[in-house]
Amino acid sequence: AAKRAGRNGYAIFDPTMTMSVLEEAQLRSDLEHGLEHDEFVVLYQPVVDMQTQRVTSVEALVRWEHPRDGLLGPYHFIAAAEANGLIVPLGRWVLREACAQLARWRAESPAAADLKINVNLSARQFQYAGLVDDVAAALTDAGVEAASLTLEITESMLMEDIETAKRTLHALRELGVRLAIDDFGTGYSSLSYLKQLPVDVIKIDKTFVDDVHIDDDDVALVDAVAGLGQALKMQTVAEGIETDEQWATLRSIGIDHGQGYLFGKPAAPADINALLNGVSAISA
Ligand code: C2E
Ligand code: MG
Ligand code: MG
Ligand code: MG
Repeated sequence: AAKRAGRNGYAIFDPTMTMSVLEEAQLRSDLEHGLEHDEFVVLYQPVVDMQTQRVTSVEALVRWEHPRDGLLGPYHFIAAAEANGLIVPLGRWVLREACAQLARWRAESPAAADLKINVNLSARQFQYAGLVDDVAAALTDAGVEAASLTLEITESMLMEDIETAKRTLHALRELGVRLAIDDFGTGYSSLSYLKQLPVDVIKIDKTFVDDVHIDDDDVALVDAVAGLGQALKMQTVAEGIETDEQWATLRSIGIDHGQGYLFGKPAAPADINALLNGVSAISA
């Protein structure tokens, strides 16, 4: 059975553990109910220019306002939704909501004119044949141009079925959306393959950022990724920056953008609005 967190049977759903048939069925029906009853919300975390600290984009991060268990983060339900297929409608909802929110920010404030949005895709969503149409529809319905949207995928999603992944990436690129590799460095993509992919952004995983201000090995690795980005004309983003020391080190290495609690935690749309307008309202 899935390890219990005390509050419910799937609070710590780990795909390597087996849930009982009952627990799986319960979670599935809860997720379906949640989708029908607007229980999901999207928070947005700022991504900043490393030099100026100006917010250039925000990453959409889903949460579940569970009627019984309160606010649940993605680790409580994304893997399960991936396993039972509900990630496709859930991911579609996040995509549509994020595009609509970007349009709202822009309507509300001139400061959001250049703001861009980043949305995570799951493996199953990436393999789903209707993905490109879903993305196109989300953009059109929100009235947002494709270049304002970056889709984040992980290395393992790319390496699973290289030819299909390539076709999907090219079809998305054709639409005009930008593509990012998330959690870079934790998977194993080959460099020769990376070179052939229409990727715009490399997001360096937090595990390389944690000790970068004290560990020369991490400096060497991040420096290598910065060089890779330069060689392949891909922008670099460092994830999980929490301290000024990490920021200073990454900035001196030449990383383009940063994301982390130092600049802002995932926050509600109104807080992002305040941040864009120079009011510090992000709650810790
Ligand atoms: P990710 O895409 O790598 O997102 C970054 C995660 O790191 C977020 O966790 C964010 O809150 C957290 N983070 C950012 N800065 C810091 C920091 O300075 N310190 C620490 N300790 N953490 C930081 P979150 O929101 O819990 O999301 C976890 C993962 O769940 C995401 O990792 C992504 O893989 C997945 N996810 C979130 N939303 C979605 C979604 O809408 N669709 C899909 N398919 N996956 C999602
Ligand atoms: Mg991400
Ligand atoms: Mg990441
Ligand atoms: Mg991550």
